[in-house]
Amino acid sequence: MQTNFTAEQLADPKLASSEKILRSCVHCGFCTATCPTYQLLGDELDSPRGRIYLMKEMFETGQPATQEVVKHVDRCLSCLSCMTTCPSGVNYMHLVDHARAHIEETYRRPWQDRLIRAVLARVLPYPNRFRLALAGAFLANKALRIASLLTWKGRVPVALTRRTLGPVSEKVGLMKRTRAMLALAPERLPTRSPIDQPAVHAAQGARKGRVAILQGCAQPVLQPSINEAALRLLTRNGIEVVFAAGEGCCGSLVHHMGREHQSLVQARQAIDAWIKEMDGAGLDAIVITASGCGTTIKDYGFMLRDDPAYADKARRVSAIAKDITEYVTGLALDAPVRQVDLVAAYHSACSMQHGQQIKDQPKALLKAAGFTVKEPPEGHLCCGSAGIYNIMQPEIAGRLRDRKIDNLEKVRPDLIATGNIGCITQIAKGFAERERSIPIVHTVELLDWVTGGPLPQALAEARLGESPATAPQATV
Ligand code: SF4
Ligand code: SF4
Repeated sequence: MQTNFTAEQLADPKLASSEKILRSCVHCGFCTATCPTYQLLGDELDSPRGRIYLMKEMFETGQPATQEVVKHVDRCLSCLSCMTTCPSGVNYMHLVDHARAHIEETYRRPWQDRLIRAVLARVLPYPNRFRLALAGAFLANKALRIASLLTWKGRVPVALTRRTLGPVSEKVGLMKRTRAMLALAPERLPTRSPIDQPAVHAAQGARKGRVAILQGCAQPVLQPSINEAALRLLTRNGIEVVFAAGEGCCGSLVHHMGREHQSLVQARQAIDAWIKEMDGAGLDAIVITASGCGTTIKDYGFMLRDDPAYADKARRVSAIAKDITEYVTGLALDAPVRQVDLVAAYHSACSMQHGQQIKDQPKALLKAAGFTVKEPPEGHLCCGSAGIYNIMQPEIAGRLRDRKIDNLEKVRPDLIATGNIGCITQIAKGFAERERSIPIVHTVELLDWVTGGPLPQALAEARLGESPATAPQATV
């Protein structure tokens, strides 16, 4: 693609990098075939190629982002399916990240958008605040249920409910986003995990390695059982595990909102915590159990390339960042201690299959553990979770979720396995709305269970996998 930047513009390293990406696009349009928003909306401007044109124009003119650019970039899920499909190797991720940061700097969103985005950025990355917010959401959900019951029985006039909650908020979108947020809140809050603090956990038996597990921000609040399973699996297999002090959120959530400064502050904090361990007792890997975070941590080297104090440290951290399934693939895991007769539909999160190009390892591990693994049709399409996308774009996210659930049901699974908390929340809510219950479980919880850990809660609730342990089989 031909570009028209001035020499002065290209002196800016960020613009120079984006210009290089723009020039690599040959506008062949292959990417449109696998883009979820283009598939749903059929508008070229909601395709990767269309967005690339919009971003090119925005960068070339150097003008503040327009409403039209914001609309179409906001609708992008950052699922990166287009990067998997593109034959020319266009790095859409870096381009759209740059565009989101430019939008954040130059575009004044309506006040409702600013409010909800500010709340999300100040709450989600901080576990204590998030826990408090979920408790509030839990109470709000209860209150709404009571209100709707009273309304139904005619005790609260419908007109009053509408007047109070209604048309203005509905029009500006605040209400629907609040509703989307409340709908994602869990029915009950897990208690705080005993491993929810910095510590070193010794390997069982002879030590074969030493890793840090990312504690994360939203995941340990929503489902602490995931990191608990990862910890058990690794220590049982001879790996010493550290939860590094001072780590915090990896910065991924706000990075996708274009809040570059906040995301880099969070990234530097995590880097400091891990470098201290790397230069101290040493780390073989930084293990991540949420693939959304993994994609960002693997990109730290790029995100901080122009920061003289952090460029090298960021590169070192990115170089040893691994998804739990990548790391475990390199270990000779203990043999399974129970025989499973279950069909697992494998849902590959976009950040796993497109962001990190991890496709086979999770399925191979599940198969070796005894599961019959099936892949749903249209496995490349996003489930609509995508960070805060399901809150900010609830209609598109809802349509993608419904399509995903239809596809998952087609393979008639006993359970769904995946490696990202966002997808787990999104898909589980979709099944709940249909009043169906196919349990969705993190891959590491399944591997831990089969090799000696406890039955994952979602399986216990569905009364699956309760048969007693059996003799060991082949090595995973
Ligand atoms: S497939 Fe790649 S080269 Fe072709 S239009 Fe899409 S981004 Fe550009
Ligand atoms: S990241 Fe996903 S939604 Fe965005 S343009 Fe690429 S394929 Fe489409």
